[in-house]
Amino acid sequence: MAHNYDVGTRAWQPDPTEGWVASEVESKNVQGDKVKLLFRLANGEEKTIETTVAALHDDNNAALPPLMNPAILEASDDLTNLSHLNEPAVLQAIRLRYSQKEIYTYSGIVLIATNPFARVDSLYVPGMVQVYAGKQRSSQAPHLFAIAEEAFADMLRDNKNQTIVVSGESGAGKTVSAKYIMRYFSTRESPDQPGNRAKGIADAMSETEEQILATNPVMEAFGNAKTTRNDNSSRFGKYIEIMFDKKTEIIGARIRTYLLERSRLVFQPLKERNYHVFYQLVAGATEAERQEWGLLPVVHFDYLNQGGSPVIEGWDDKVEFDATRQSLTTIGVSQGKQSQIFALLSALLHLGNVKITATRTDSVLPPTEPSLVKACQMLGVDAGEFAKWTVKKQLITREERIMSNLTQQQAVVVRDSVAKFIYSAVFDWLVENINAGLATEEVSNRATTFIGVLDIYGFEHFIKNSFEQFCINYANEKLQQEFNQHVFKLEQEEYLREEIDWTFIDFSDNQPCIDLIEAKLGVLALLDEESRLPMGSDEQFVTKLHHNFANDKSKYYKKPRFGKSSFTVCHYAIDVTYESDGFIEKNRDTVPDEHMEVLRESSNPFLAEVLEAASVVRDKDALTASNAKAVPTPGRRMGVAANRKPTLGGIFKSSLIELMHTINSTDVHYIRCIKPNESKESWKFEGPMVLSQLRACGVLETVRISCAGYPTRWTYEEFALRYYMLVPSQSWTSAIREMANAILKKALGQGTNRGLDKYQLGLTKIFFRAGMLAFLENLRTTRL
Ligand code: ADP
Ligand code: MG
Repeated sequence: MAHNYDVGTRAWQPDPTEGWVASEVESKNVQGDKVKLLFRLANGEEKTIETTVAALHDDNNAALPPLMNPAILEASDDLTNLSHLNEPAVLQAIRLRYSQKEIYTYSGIVLIATNPFARVDSLYVPGMVQVYAGKQRSSQAPHLFAIAEEAFADMLRDNKNQTIVVSGESGAGKTVSAKYIMRYFSTRESPDQPGNRAKGIADAMSETEEQILATNPVMEAFGNAKTTRNDNSSRFGKYIEIMFDKKTEIIGARIRTYLLERSRLVFQPLKERNYHVFYQLVAGATEAERQEWGLLPVVHFDYLNQGGSPVIEGWDDKVEFDATRQSLTTIGVSQGKQSQIFALLSALLHLGNVKITATRTDSVLPPTEPSLVKACQMLGVDAGEFAKWTVKKQLITREERIMSNLTQQQAVVVRDSVAKFIYSAVFDWLVENINAGLATEEVSNRATTFIGVLDIYGFEHFIKNSFEQFCINYANEKLQQEFNQHVFKLEQEEYLREEIDWTFIDFSDNQPCIDLIEAKLGVLALLDEESRLPMGSDEQFVTKLHHNFANDKSKYYKKPRFGKSSFTVCHYAIDVTYESDGFIEKNRDTVPDEHMEVLRESSNPFLAEVLEAASVVRDKDALTASNAKAVPTPGRRMGVAANRKPTLGGIFKSSLIELMHTINSTDVHYIRCIKPNESKESWKFEGPMVLSQLRACGVLETVRISCAGYPTRWTYEEFALRYYMLVPSQSWTSAIREMANAILKKALGQGTNRGLDKYQLGLTKIFFRAGMLAFLENLRTTRL
């Protein structure tokens, strides 16, 4: 709303370290059309802004400092209650609440969770579950339990599946939140049997519920690792469906995973680690196991020691190993099977130690190389064959086979590709195994509804962005689109229900950006095309991209001014430049056919089982991938699906499309996790860092959208009760509507054009434009 910026007006000034700082108009000088405003900043500095009278009355004038809310509204537990709904006001609300140790804030339907990096004991005590169980969200303080409860209640009421999307950057608290949500469901009393869990939690949990919770330590051991951002960083995305029967008892669960980071197995950046399970194994195996599997201290394994920092402060890998084994047992993996898993992991460690030497041009690997012998013995494969196909490759044409030697560097890549492949197969096997136990056919048939929890990496934007960031940001575009549509639908529905005068505002739809990535001739398709050429290269891929999308052929694509190897995608959050280096290799993700053959002939029955699980997963994805494409050309139908090895990008795309399909068929609830500081310090709040995350998770975009409509809404009762003093006492009446109208007329001048634009009268509620509430609050304070 237009404002005069009179003396005493409080407004925000940009600040490089805090994000924004408070200020107040100290003097206002008007000369003709010219206005000179002097602001006093909270830190004592002053700032002058020169503008014009006309500019002051321009609602969309970005040059004027954004207005501050009245103090009473500033730390509101729902951002949509803020009257001045601008970026600094949103930041201020979250900052103030965080400083009061309130980590949860709503932004309409979204729950914002700011990581405390400290144990907040009172928040998750067993009694807290019952505080939220059976309650309306608005009746209690913001909490993730309230969101979980809402999902549960909606499921009961509508007999419909639900999804809770937990997003945020690495270390923001997604996994911790997702675990608390799972815990909430398994400890919440079933509506049919109240009271039976009041005494304690553990003893009342069913075996199934315990198994579901036990999937967490298992998945974390195999899929989480220490990174510079998070000591326990999940290196995969996860969607877990918690299945309920018609009595709303939990009867099972199904897990789907996304894009496990494979490269970590063979390479870790400085200060980072490989997957936890390896360090647990090395620290916790018994003496006999150590002997049998040839386990050595961490420093002796190349795959474990590249980050140069194999210890996590405050963790005991040996204790964690016991916990992992215990959880594996809980989910039904026998001791014998566990030993086979750990033997396989040990074999991979030996594989990483295989020394490949070189002559001047070619790589050399004798079949007697000790680590190779050990690894192959444990994998049950022929060391001679393995060595041969590590240093050589063959090209089979119609006429002949051409053998050639690989360089040392290429040979190492081949060795590593086998190790990565086996590890990701073990991971897939684990997931299949969990699902086989928790989502049996019987359970699936009996389940009436599910609540899915999605714990997936948020938007990523680093100094150097690669294939992984590309996939992750693509996923976030899809999720953001779903979110926007959802928010709009709700908003729209309420306006319709209340029958207010309303034209649909256009919101920034990110479909064109999604098209750029996933369309028939989009970035992923071009990447696949290039990946399938024997001589395909990253440079050639980028050249194709530039050719197809640069020079304004796509509004969402930019050719960077410098460097020939990169390309820029204009995402909803921010433009991200991707370095093409490695795209092709990562997308292909192939093990040479000859190595596949060697593995298939393995005498290790567990390895065979694991490879089977992996191929089931791959085939399923390849199938959906080909289904997801446009209608295949007749005649080539089978050929296409059968000949083409699925690429990682293709697999990701199809699993994402399937995920979105699932999510779209459910009611969705949102939790946005925020990491308030880089150094993981307790209760430290860095404004600019929080701002950029609020932008990336779409909170600010939603705020912008709601400002275009009527973000504040009050029932006639609420309104009359709060502002009755704005009209003289002789016009007070118990006829609520009449009373509300009188107040509006007096305070805002109903009937004039300006009045109409400030608010709208709905059937049961009054809808206000942004800024109106602050205006009313100021009036109220002067009357009191
Ligand atoms: P993400 O999954 O988003 O990468 P995590 O959930 O692993 O992040 O959280 C990172 C770390 O932050 C946790 O190990 C924990 O120390 C801390 N943390 C996250 N959420 C909370 C919370 N609700 N209360 C206390 N500490 C938390
Ligand atoms: Mg995580």
